[in-house]
Amino acid sequence: MPEVLVLVDHLDGVVRRSTLELLTIARRLGEPSAVYASPDPLPDETVRLLGEHGARAVYVVQDETVEQFSVAPLAEALEQLVRSTTPTVVLIGSTPEGKEVAARLAVRTDSGLLTDAVGVDVVDGAAVTTHSAFGGGYEVRARVTRGTPVITVKPNTVEPVAEPAHPEVRPVTTTFSDAARSARVVARQPRERSARPELTEASVVVSGGRGTGGDFAPVEALADALGAAVGASKAAVDSGWAPHSFQVGQTGKTVSPQLYVAAGISGAIQHRAGMQTSRAIVAVNRDPDAPIFELADLGVVGDLHTVLPAVTEEIRRR
Ligand code: FAD
Repeated sequence: MPEVLVLVDHLDGVVRRSTLELLTIARRLGEPSAVYASPDPLPDETVRLLGEHGARAVYVVQDETVEQFSVAPLAEALEQLVRSTTPTVVLIGSTPEGKEVAARLAVRTDSGLLTDAVGVDVVDGAAVTTHSAFGGGYEVRARVTRGTPVITVKPNTVEPVAEPAHPEVRPVTTTFSDAARSARVVARQPRERSARPELTEASVVVSGGRGTGGDFAPVEALADALGAAVGASKAAVDSGWAPHSFQVGQTGKTVSPQLYVAAGISGAIQHRAGMQTSRAIVAVNRDPDAPIFELADLGVVGDLHTVLPAVTEEIRRR
């Protein structure tokens, strides 16, 4: 079976869900091996979690350089692994950092790069990716024709599925060039963490628009009842009702959750661009002709200030 390398995205050893999604995808393409880079030793708990999701091996790059310097050392470590293990594909999460690592890796290995995949299939033994393009107006399918395919995949592309394996832990010794040390990280300031999931990773997102009239309480209450992240339209952000980090759309974040609830959002093309690859879309809007209903799997015509609290109460009651 060909080996598939998956770069583990973690924060101090706590593995992000998107890595488990990548391992699930990797199993369709071959035998998944995880690559864990950190200055600290690999926690047993992490090995267990990666094994539960099918990792047959965990390559460990334990080196301070990967934390002290920005992105480039990680790309060099991956490059050395690609050369020694000749994997069939490298999968990386579509975060800003992940995409930069992927781009550097592709250049260093003279390989093709595909970013922001929202689907990965196997066709004739090769990875074929699906991408949402031109504000979601087109679905593009692509495959790499040169080198070792480097693919970044958006969060929530698949549900992580467990398939227990007993990974072999393989320490890797990496040498870094001077160029890898050209951008030093001077501080890492943890942001105040919200109890809600990160918007781009959440499997459920509840967003509010101008129709909230500035009262986001029903949106937040429903989000909390569902364990969801809160999103917002640009109109809501521009009105100062939500921070820019909540904005979903062309000039905000792209989300692809299992469930997206749009409350008081008309469904402008620029908003759609950031959410239309969501698995299921529920719209609440008092205008029956609102364009969002063309996209919605379920539409509720009504006042969000009545509909959302009723749904929240019903969810809490169950
Ligand atoms: P509106 O279009 O005003 O819609 C409000 C909706 O709420 C209406 O459909 C109304 O019927 C409904 N409503 C009102 N009251 C209630 C109620 N009580 N209960 C239920 N429904 C109610 N927009 C984005 O969202 N994200 C982007 O990233 C983005 N980028 C842009 C980039 C560019 C270059 C441009 C030009 C625009 C961009 N926009 C973006 C703006 C976009 O075009 C729309 O203006 C914006 O999405 C509208 O936000 P909205 O749906 O909240 O407001």
